[in-house]
Amino acid sequence: MPRPLKNPFMPEKIPYARPFIGKEEEEGVLRVLRSGWLTTGPETLAFEEEFAAFLQKNNQKNASPLYCMAVNSATSGLHLALEACGIKAGDLVLVPTMTFTATAEVVRYLGAEAVFVDSLPGGFNMDPQALERTLEELEKESPGKAQAVMPVHYGGLPCDMEAINGIAQRFKIQVIEDAAHSFPSFLPSDKGAPGSSGLFAGDMSKLGVFSFYATKTITTGEGGMVVTRDKEMAERIRIMRSHGIDRSVFHRYTDTRASWFYQVVEPGFKYNIPDLLSALGRAQLNRAWDLLSAREDLVRRYDEAFSEGPFILPPTGPGDARHLYPLRFKTEELKADRALLAQEIQEEGVGISVHFIPLHTMPYYKTRYSLNDHDFPHALDSFNRAISLPLWPGMTVSQIERVITVVKETASRYTS
Ligand SMILES: *Cc1c(COP(=O)(O)O)cnc(C)c1O
Repeated sequence: MPRPLKNPFMPEKIPYARPFIGKEEEEGVLRVLRSGWLTTGPETLAFEEEFAAFLQKNNQKNASPLYCMAVNSATSGLHLALEACGIKAGDLVLVPTMTFTATAEVVRYLGAEAVFVDSLPGGFNMDPQALERTLEELEKESPGKAQAVMPVHYGGLPCDMEAINGIAQRFKIQVIEDAAHSFPSFLPSDKGAPGSSGLFAGDMSKLGVFSFYATKTITTGEGGMVVTRDKEMAERIRIMRSHGIDRSVFHRYTDTRASWFYQVVEPGFKYNIPDLLSALGRAQLNRAWDLLSAREDLVRRYDEAFSEGPFILPPTGPGDARHLYPLRFKTEELKADRALLAQEIQEEGVGISVHFIPLHTMPYYKTRYSLNDHDFPHALDSFNRAISLPLWPGMTVSQIERVITVVKETASRYTS
């Protein structure tokens, strides 16, 4: 027997995140363990089919086939999506500064350069006006180099895709949605972004990528899903996620004809997801709406508690998947900055996080592109005020009340 490990989950503390794992998830993993096939196979094919069906349901707007490709992370998926768009060395790809480094690093994987875009005033999503301004400047400085934009639906709140798709069309660049936070972000048909193909975030442009990382809205521990309605791109992504081989491993081992034969058509990647994880994904997919309504209940409690006092409630709107609760402090009314408030809240046993430290401040990007804070005032302002509070289905009433008490008491100690 391997040595037992200490459970990293400390019951006396309220963790920032905790996955919701039930009997179905346990049974799914056992089913795969007992099947004799652990890597990409029938569970993954079923996960992809069921994921596509989920996004197609209620979608009267676009009945064309939706291709879903499961991968071992959203980072891998974003890399494959950019590759399928033909992004190459020297190209420019626009990304929000208010995101996780994965969104920008995949641009560098391909030798292309990331160009950062500021957030909406008072918000976290990419500002379409800032996108337009940046593209106009690039058109003068390096005409024809901008090739794609990757908006992030921050916290699961869909970006203004009508505006972003329109600008992208005008500048002839491709759109890849980083939908890591936004499963499921559903815009009912009367509120769907006109000009977009689908009603779900991730299906509102050419390509979308979801994350199933441990803290995300549904999880496989690690994992991701690329979705597109472009058949050729789907085919390219399928090949590139498994070493550039034109035939899936599962089909090679289960086909009776010439099972040894395959052809390498590109130097691809090893980005496939094992069936052990896809089984988890299928169980989580079945819970996606329930998990969302559990997060909505928690948000209602937070909103009520923080509607008064030195707080700014998270921006919201139709289709918000409520992945994060980024509470901002009116720091101008407080005798403490965010760092101090965050530290004291954590010392009280409440797990928090910050989404995100803007990428333009990170040593790598700041140095490589000589970036300045004054070009990203809105992202910086939100960053300097925000902490993300715990928001996971399964939080008890006493846990959420404890979070509220700790945050309010901490702020009140510094109220002038
Ligand atoms: C988590 C995250 C990713 C990366 O997801 P992985 O599945 O961990 O690779 C990408 N973009 C954003 C905005 C994220 O929050």
